[in-house]
Amino acid sequence: MSNADTAPNFENTQRAFAHLSAGELNRALVLFQTVGNNQLVRTGKALMQVALALRIPVGWAIRPTVYSHFCGGETIAECEGTVATLHANKVHTILDYSAEGKEEEIDLEATQSHILQAIAATKGDQRHGFSVFKVSGVASTALLEKASVNPDGLTPSDAAAWNRVQARVDTLCSEAAQLGTPVFIDAEETWLQDAIDRLALEQMRKHNGKKAIVFNTVQLYRHDRYAYLKETTELAQKEGWHLGVKLVRGAYMEKERARAQEQGYASPIQPDKASTDRDFNAAVRWCVKHIDRVAFCAGSHNEESNALLAQCLEEAGLARDDERAWSAQLLGMSDHISFNLSQAGYNVAKYVPFGPIRETIPYLIRRAEENSSVAGQTSRELELIRREVKRRKAKA
Ligand SMILES: Cc1cc2nc3c(=O)[nH]c(=O)nc-3n(C[C@H](O)[C@H](O)[C@H](O)COP(=O)(O)OP(=O)(O)OC[C@H]3O[C@@H](n4cnc5c(N)ncnc54)[C@H](O)[C@@H]3O)c2cc1C
Repeated sequence: MSNADTAPNFENTQRAFAHLSAGELNRALVLFQTVGNNQLVRTGKALMQVALALRIPVGWAIRPTVYSHFCGGETIAECEGTVATLHANKVHTILDYSAEGKEEEIDLEATQSHILQAIAATKGDQRHGFSVFKVSGVASTALLEKASVNPDGLTPSDAAAWNRVQARVDTLCSEAAQLGTPVFIDAEETWLQDAIDRLALEQMRKHNGKKAIVFNTVQLYRHDRYAYLKETTELAQKEGWHLGVKLVRGAYMEKERARAQEQGYASPIQPDKASTDRDFNAAVRWCVKHIDRVAFCAGSHNEESNALLAQCLEEAGLARDDERAWSAQLLGMSDHISFNLSQAGYNVAKYVPFGPIRETIPYLIRRAEENSSVAGQTSRELELIRREVKRRKAKA
């Protein structure tokens, strides 16, 4: 079979949106039209931030719109409908508890307990592909930064707090290992990431003896990360464990560049998008080539990278559903990739964020910004949704 025969077809909007009723498709259309307007997104973001600061209730505006599109529900039980729909379309769920920016110990403990519940929900339930957490959900960012920048210089009280963070991460990964569901550790800003990498490495050494259970995340918009991926693969080979890795381009580019400029150090980010794409795609090839030692998930909405993943598996003679190779997207985004890949037999999962509406607002603002128009261009999402609306009308 030639590559043309095996390349996934991301143009099939019927399959991509089959899980959406007419009402839901219409809601998606209005939503992506709205977030496509830069000015509206900027105003909406400012209003949300004021409402949050003044504790003005915003649920009534958010719940039926952005929240319903991008989140599964306030609780795990409320996500059940989404989990079932994804499963019916051969897409696995990754429950993602979406609280961010907590600093107090009591809140960090509470977040850990929500993540533990999400991990427990995977027990014996094949509809779940992975669990996931952010270390900044169970550690204050101030401490994470200290532990990254100067790990040997922690004060006794910081060292005690760091021990508690290590214990929380250990509890989460050990629970995932016991249930046999792999767990992703998300990647964050560079000034927090060294500590996260150390924690992830420790957990991979502990749990990934027979297969990858703990997955660290590598952001290929960093110019040093492809080298890091290779070094970590070699370390896993040398020490005899399996590397689990989620490959992403990276979510904090503007913040990273602004901070580097402000503080006068060289930006950790690639010089341009083409360099990020080159390293991301090289990382996909590297993982497939070292599949005996590496299990990976391409967390991406990029069609070319997802097509490359399919092509590499084909060329390596691996099954499309080899348990070591996955593609993942976020709920409410790039359904044309998720559902066309899953129907073609590849392993696909979607992050399903859940949590109280107020807690998910920073996440929702990021999704809106990500989808606002670049120089007035219609987003790919909007173009595909419009096409599907037109197709259904023509059929009616
Ligand atoms: C399942 C999943 C899990 C994720 N987990 C994480 C995570 O743990 N940590 C995290 O940081 N992000 C995470 N992300 C977000 C991810 O890093 C990207 O921000 C997002 O997916 C967009 O990249 P893309 O590959 O989908 O596609 P594309 O739209 O092709 O790429 C956009 C990305 O390219 C990069 N880029 C854009 N312009 C430039 C430029 N001028 N120079 C250099 N690079 C540029 C940026 O990273 C930008 O986000 C995750 C995404 C998914 C789908």
